[in-house]
Amino acid sequence: MAGYEPKEIERKWQAVWAEEKTWEVANPGQPGFDNSKPKSYVLEMLPYPSGEPHVGHLKCYAVGDAIAHFRRRHGFEVIHPMGYDSFGLPAENNAIKTGEPPRVATERSIESFRRQFREWGISIDWSRELATHTPKYYRWTQWIFLQLFEKGLAYRTEAPVQWCPKDATVLANEQVVDGRCERCGTEVVQRNLEQWFFRITEYADRLLEDFEALESWPDHVITMQRNWIGRSEGAQVVFRCEEGVDLDFPVFTTRPDTLFGATFFVLAPEHPELERLVSGTPAEAEVREYVNRVGRESAEERGAEDREKTGVPLGRSVVNPVNGEEIPMFVADYVLMEYGTGAIMAVPGHDSRDYEFAQKFGLPVVRVIEGSDEEEARDEAGLPYSGDGPMTGSGRFDGKNNREAYGEIVDWLRSEGRGESAVNYRLRDWLVSRQRYWGAPIPVVYCDECGIVPVPAEQLPVELPEIEDYAPQGKSPLAAAVEWVATECPRCGAAARRETDTMDTFVDSSWYFLRYLDAHNAAAAFDRAAVDHWMPVDQYIGGVEHAILHLMYARFFTKALSDLGQVGVQEPFANLFTQGMITRDGAKMSKSKGNTVSPGDYVDRYGADTARTYVCFMGPPERGGDWTDEGVEGVNRFLSRLWRLCEEAESRTGAGEPDPAAGGEVRDLLAKAHWAIEKATRDFQRGFQFNTVISAVMELVNDTYRLKDGLYGTPEGGAAVRFATATAASLIFPFAPHLASEVFSRLAGGRVWEQPWPVADPALLVSETVTLVVQVNGKLRDRIEVPAEASEEDLLRLARASDKVAGHLDGGKIVKEIVVPGKLVNLVVR
Ligand SMILES: [Zn+2]
Ligand SMILES: [Zn+2]
Repeated sequence: MAGYEPKEIERKWQAVWAEEKTWEVANPGQPGFDNSKPKSYVLEMLPYPSGEPHVGHLKCYAVGDAIAHFRRRHGFEVIHPMGYDSFGLPAENNAIKTGEPPRVATERSIESFRRQFREWGISIDWSRELATHTPKYYRWTQWIFLQLFEKGLAYRTEAPVQWCPKDATVLANEQVVDGRCERCGTEVVQRNLEQWFFRITEYADRLLEDFEALESWPDHVITMQRNWIGRSEGAQVVFRCEEGVDLDFPVFTTRPDTLFGATFFVLAPEHPELERLVSGTPAEAEVREYVNRVGRESAEERGAEDREKTGVPLGRSVVNPVNGEEIPMFVADYVLMEYGTGAIMAVPGHDSRDYEFAQKFGLPVVRVIEGSDEEEARDEAGLPYSGDGPMTGSGRFDGKNNREAYGEIVDWLRSEGRGESAVNYRLRDWLVSRQRYWGAPIPVVYCDECGIVPVPAEQLPVELPEIEDYAPQGKSPLAAAVEWVATECPRCGAAARRETDTMDTFVDSSWYFLRYLDAHNAAAAFDRAAVDHWMPVDQYIGGVEHAILHLMYARFFTKALSDLGQVGVQEPFANLFTQGMITRDGAKMSKSKGNTVSPGDYVDRYGADTARTYVCFMGPPERGGDWTDEGVEGVNRFLSRLWRLCEEAESRTGAGEPDPAAGGEVRDLLAKAHWAIEKATRDFQRGFQFNTVISAVMELVNDTYRLKDGLYGTPEGGAAVRFATATAASLIFPFAPHLASEVFSRLAGGRVWEQPWPVADPALLVSETVTLVVQVNGKLRDRIEVPAEASEEDLLRLARASDKVAGHLDGGKIVKEIVVPGKLVNLVVR
């Protein structure tokens, strides 16, 4: 008998799927479109192709593929496409180092990804494949940019930007981690540049409100997005500096109830009016020195909680609009330009940072809310006080509870023309300009006469020129392509210059899920009818590291495209599943530690079915898992066992129908098979608990092994072994599709993927029971049969209901209940 030869089996079935284009689906109006089935769009986040796929890719696509197969066999028409997020920095950095054009390295990597996806047997509709670096794709990325531009959602403005001196590029705020460049770790500095932005802030409220439609998204993802948007309600109040400059300083505060307690006023070091305030004054030199020093500090240092407060008085004052008091102005680095207006009213009586600053600079501390809760007091004076209570020193509001008076205060500010209610967001507009080569060129032209002129749609794509030197020189490497830069103004025909910035690669991945639906359309980004049919994505799968940016940007694009009449949905991803990270032998994998897992090696050695099944078996997929070679071998032994069962059953059993009426071990094995069907189906549907789905199949295979020799003797027994083995194949198919296809076709005939998912026979689903020991005060009083899966509550209820136990409770009071699930209940009585 031949052993389990995964290579042979896998090649055989991959050839069938490729030749028959098994996983391709048609769009409405195309030949082969199946209108009888409900649709399901199953999508894994597209890979960034760099080198070879790693084990995180294996997990993501193995998980997604299992879901796609499960849905197909539940009668859905499943669309399951694949593509590559193929613009980006790593390929460009490699080009700077080696001189190899990014396109060459990227396309080599894509080839490797494509080959491995085929070798893994992922059920991809290859007719929809795309790569974001191809002109065929980015032509439409540029087109969408122009749509946003026309709608006023893309704009250019000078703005202070985060600049990585090493990469010589602008970074988005989210690419700055603790004051350092996310990619290379270099300390980030500030610069002013003309930049392109997308007006995502205009969608802040809709992005928040529509979380209601995303009920099944993981809570932590929604929380991260909420915090990122950072909406807070409060009031905008204008403080005025007269003294010859006559400047208004609006501040945003979430605590207008403390306005009467403002005793000084602070500007961020980056505040644009700072220069005007101090220029030619005695404070000028010291302020300038301070601002320069702060500029060299990282955001991390500035944000530190325990940091000593620093600042410089400006020698100016503003008027508190609520009581007319003049309060002194300072510049201090604890105020950030990114939050609110970059200026704050300081209320040291009720804010701890203002309090520390006041202590350091000897400024008055005024308390305007009386504390009622002693625990809220931070020192003997009860300052600063962050709790609620009656207001004091606040004019007409004295005696009122600050929370209750909140709305009244805002109304009064508005009626007096001193302020108004306001909402502040942490979210900033999306900076999309990159001074890099390997991205989609921004499709605009600068004309001396006409200004910014969009490239007409029929002239798209603006193709990336070939260049020789990829090294950034502080401007885009594209500026070196002199002939490319020089162009004609599309509007007046005069000499004009092309934009040399390229787009953030997050732009490319903000709409790829729409292009899959109509990937070869040369006349439009996509056909509305195709998008209306397939959208939204029914199940999106990817790493939790994309919980904020990618998902937020894709949601923004979908809403903007909906407003433009291009799509009919408001949310792109109806359901989201985030997979956990894989470690190895307990440690995080990294190239520098040399402990990475190359999926290719394991596929070569054990076959794709083993590698795929293993990554789904190593733990609940939403959590991480620890890769061990013993674990891989264990899964390989299980699949080999299934294979040996198949070969044996094929030669020793006939094709009869299994009959539970035969009783005995025939019935036992059939019952086990139906138990496995039930358990696998339920756990699959319950949040993709693949580890327990697979272990149910393992149990079925083990029981079949144990019982088979006694069953081969009779036709009913043989039929039961054959049925149990074919059922195991049918259930393991989403994870080990090749082996499952082979086993199923040999034992049951036909193609397992064309079979409906098996349904358990309720008549054969005996609920399992276990014997529960019931003690009273540690002494055995009864043994009762209870359902194996009974909850602790049920166990206690059943234990208390026992007559024998009741006799020993003797009217006493149960003071403690100890439960060992599945084994024992001990009631402690006094
Ligand atoms: Zn850097
Ligand atoms: Zn012009």
